[in-house]
Amino acid sequence: MSTMSTIPGESAASLPAGSSRPPDWRNWSGSVRFRPRAFSRPDSLAALQATVRNIGAAGGHLRVAGSGHSFVPLVASDDHLLSLERLSGIESCGDGQATIWAGTQLRPLGGMLETRGYSMLNLGDINVQALAGAVATGTHGTGAALGSISSQVLGLTLVLPSGEAVECSVTQEPELFAAARVALGSLGVMAKITVKLEKAYRLKLTKQAMDLDECLAKAPQFARDYRHFEFYWCPHTRRTLVKLMNPTDEPESNRGLTTFTELVLENGALGLLSRISRANPNWAPAMSKVIAWSASADASEMVASSHRAFSTLRMVRFNEMEYELPAAAGADALRELAEFVEKKRILVHFPVEYRYVAADDIWLSPFYQRDAVAISVHQYQGMDYAPYFRGAEAIFRNHGGRPHWGKMHTLTAKELAPLYPQWDAFQSLRRRIDPQAVFINPYLRTLFGE
Ligand SMILES: Cc1cc2nc3c(=O)[nH]c(=O)nc-3n(C[C@H](O)[C@H](O)[C@H](O)COP(=O)(O)OP(=O)(O)OC[C@H]3O[C@@H](n4cnc5c(N)ncnc54)[C@H](O)[C@@H]3O)c2cc1C
Repeated sequence: MSTMSTIPGESAASLPAGSSRPPDWRNWSGSVRFRPRAFSRPDSLAALQATVRNIGAAGGHLRVAGSGHSFVPLVASDDHLLSLERLSGIESCGDGQATIWAGTQLRPLGGMLETRGYSMLNLGDINVQALAGAVATGTHGTGAALGSISSQVLGLTLVLPSGEAVECSVTQEPELFAAARVALGSLGVMAKITVKLEKAYRLKLTKQAMDLDECLAKAPQFARDYRHFEFYWCPHTRRTLVKLMNPTDEPESNRGLTTFTELVLENGALGLLSRISRANPNWAPAMSKVIAWSASADASEMVASSHRAFSTLRMVRFNEMEYELPAAAGADALRELAEFVEKKRILVHFPVEYRYVAADDIWLSPFYQRDAVAISVHQYQGMDYAPYFRGAEAIFRNHGGRPHWGKMHTLTAKELAPLYPQWDAFQSLRRRIDPQAVFINPYLRTLFGE
């Protein structure tokens, strides 16, 4: 992402004639590649407003990118692409909240907040997204009483196609606020985001291997007893790796040891098994069994500041589909998935992730008005994911699932609209704000039915 060329201090909208086109852009998993006509990295709110205004006035199209960690072509643009990587950092922090520039990456943000005595309420399992990228797609971690990152947002500064910067919150432009937190960059560019915070805290992580049936039976209790509970199920086995986290006053664990475990045992070993699977796809079920066996050896404890405890290193690249199901349907859906994988002998070795997310009131949030279980299926980069994802998607849809906006799925407006009670309200607000469809690309056209 940040390797793209541009002229510092200038927006691409004002690049001199004859300047070279930006190089190809590709996302983390390699599933999306494109070359925009122009690329800009504004370094102030005024520059951002001017860029958006100029593009809108010229009848152009514009997509804004975060850190490129979505698996689908949300940011693809053959016209203008915008990055907010130079609009980064904390503008103000205090009274349990912070106003943060939207391009801030979550990793440095964790440290910056900690030095001010604060932490985010919850995070996903990586921390390399831009804050706005995570918010725009409803990115979440796990915790039955905790909503997605988007639900931690208290206010936004949004730059509309006209270039006007609008403030919205529950009391100011409440409709726009209900729509704009999860809008996939279709309503405007988020410039600043105010988020709710907690006093900085440490988490104690306990990992243990468990039989799938026992894990599903204990899951509701784990979800009540632990602030964060999730598990990974190893396909073609009855084995899970359970992760439980609660706040603690205990001191931090040895960081060197944790890094070694992540680098060598998790990413190194998974990388090796993945390369074997890709070379011999028929061996994938056997590789999953090796992973299940190593999960038993991975039983351990660790204490870290919350922002470090949430995030893991993901060095082995994959493609992913995730659906958010009504919480009560999660266990049955996973059992059906296990049966499907076994019966059809699906060639996969990547563990399936199972998490909890609390309901919110954001119009296009997959957690809109319902507590959910998030089930994520992964396939190693370069291995065929179609048969696996197709079968998994049918099971998830059958249980009323809504797809994660940043991950793979096959739904279009026809299937998406009935899943969202506020779908029509969102689309009419969007058409009112952006009648020239400045922020719409072909992928959003299929999602929104333009
Ligand atoms: C290895 C890996 C692990 C992941 N783990 C999780 C997880 O634990 N939980 C989870 O829920 N998801 C997870 N995801 C998905 C990921 O969090 C989302 O796809 C997220 O949107 C990516 O953020 P990004 O900064 O890369 O945004 P991008 O993918 O670059 O963009 C995502 C969307 O945000 C919009 N956007 C970006 N900046 C702005 C802005 N300033 N204003 C308006 N719109 C904007 C873009 O237009 C686009 O629609 C994971 C993905 C990967 C690759």
